[in-house]
Amino acid sequence: MYVTHLECPKCGAVFDHRKLAGLCTKCSSPLLVRYDLKKIKEKFSKKRLKHRSYNLWRYKEFLPIENEKNIISLGEVITPLLKLEKFGSLAGFKHLYLKDEGLNPGGSFKSRGAAVGISRAKELGVKSFAMPTNGNAGAAWAIYGAKAGIEANIVMPKSAPLITRNECAVSGAKLYLVNGLISDAGKIVAKAVQKYAIMDASTLKEPYRIEGKKTMGLEIIEQFGWKSPDVILYPTGGGVGLIGIYKALLELRAIGIIENLPRLVAVQAQNCAPIVKAYESKSKESIFWENAHTIAFGITVPKAIGDFLVLDAIYKTNGTAVAVADEDILHYQSLLAQNEGLFICPEGAATLTAAHKLLKQGWINPKEKVVLLNTGTGLKYPDTVQINPITLEPNGEIEIKF
Ligand SMILES: *Cc1c(COP(=O)(O)O)cnc(C)c1O
Ligand SMILES: [Zn+2]
Repeated sequence: MYVTHLECPKCGAVFDHRKLAGLCTKCSSPLLVRYDLKKIKEKFSKKRLKHRSYNLWRYKEFLPIENEKNIISLGEVITPLLKLEKFGSLAGFKHLYLKDEGLNPGGSFKSRGAAVGISRAKELGVKSFAMPTNGNAGAAWAIYGAKAGIEANIVMPKSAPLITRNECAVSGAKLYLVNGLISDAGKIVAKAVQKYAIMDASTLKEPYRIEGKKTMGLEIIEQFGWKSPDVILYPTGGGVGLIGIYKALLELRAIGIIENLPRLVAVQAQNCAPIVKAYESKSKESIFWENAHTIAFGITVPKAIGDFLVLDAIYKTNGTAVAVADEDILHYQSLLAQNEGLFICPEGAATLTAAHKLLKQGWINPKEKVVLLNTGTGLKYPDTVQINPITLEPNGEIEIKF
C-alpha cells in the first residue's frame, strides 16, 4: 500500500492513516488520503493491469488497503462505457457516452464507496458504524457491512426509495426512518456516534469512500485508452463522486499518465441546487438550500460538507454547474430508454438533460467526447415512471395500428 497519510485540504493538517479518522480535528473539513505518488509512478504500469481482475481492485496502487485479505468484495465489475449512437445523433452529439453504474452490486455506484470504505474499516478493526443516507449509500454499506460482519445502523428519510429500505433490512442492518431530510438524519447519527463511540460513516466524515468512488475516474481514463475525454457530467448531491473523479485525474496526471483534464460538470435539480447557486455567484462554498425536493432522490442534499471540494474541481477544470427541472429529467429518462434500451435512474437522466442543454448553449461542442455518469439503475425506482397500460379481459384482443 502506498498511502502515506491523511491530509486536510482546507488547513493542511496531517493525520495518521493507521488510526480511524473522521473530520479534521482543527477545522472540521473532510480529510483526503494521500499516497506516495513517486513510488506509484515507479511501480504502476498499464501493462501490469492486463493480468489483474476486471474490477476496481485492479487499481490497487491507488487504493488504501494494506492487506488484500481484508478486501470485502461482492463481485464488483468494471462498469460499461456505452456509446449512445442513436440518441447522440438525434441530439447532435458525435461522441456521447454513458458509464452505466447501475451494474454495480446493489444497483448503484455507492457500492464503490462501500467496498473500499468497509474493507478499510475492517482493516482498522471497526465493529459497528452509523450513517445517514438518502437510500443507496445506506443500502450499499449495509450489504458490504453484512459480508464483513460489521454492524450497520442506518438512518434515512421516510420518503427514501422503498427498495433501499428493504436492502438494509434484509441484510440485517438496524434501520431507522426519520420524518425529515438527510440533514436531519445526519444530526441523529452525530448524536449516536458521540454517545456510543461507534464509527461515523456519514458522507465524507470518513476518508475512504472517496477512494472507492475515485475508481470511476480511473476506469473512465482506462476505457478511453488512457486518455481524457473532454467533458464529464455528474449528478451531484454530496458530490463525493465528482470529488473522487477529480482526485483520480490529479493522481493520474501526477504520475504522467494523462496531461489534460476533462471539464467537470456538476448537475443538480432545480429545487435543490446549492452547488449551482454557489457556482453562479463564484463562491467557494454553498449555502443550505431550503425546502429541497426532487424526484432524483439521490441528489437531494441541501448542503454538502464537501461543497468547497466540488466547487474547486469545477473551477480548476473550467467546468460548470447546471440545474435541471424534474419534468425534463423524466422526459429524458424515457427518451433514452426508447432510443437506447437503457432504463437509467433519474439522477443519471439529469446528466443527459444537462448535456443536451449545454450542447444547445454551445458550451459543449458537438465533436467533443462527453461522458454521462448514470449513477444507478432505473430498476431501483419503479414508481418514478408513470404508465397507463391497457387492461384486457382473458378473451380480449390487442389492436395494432399501422
Ligand atoms: C448518492 C447518489 C448520487 C449523488 O452522489 P454524490 O457522489 O454524493 O454526489 C447520485 N445518484 C445516485 C443514484 C445516488 O444514489
Ligand atoms: Zn483542517
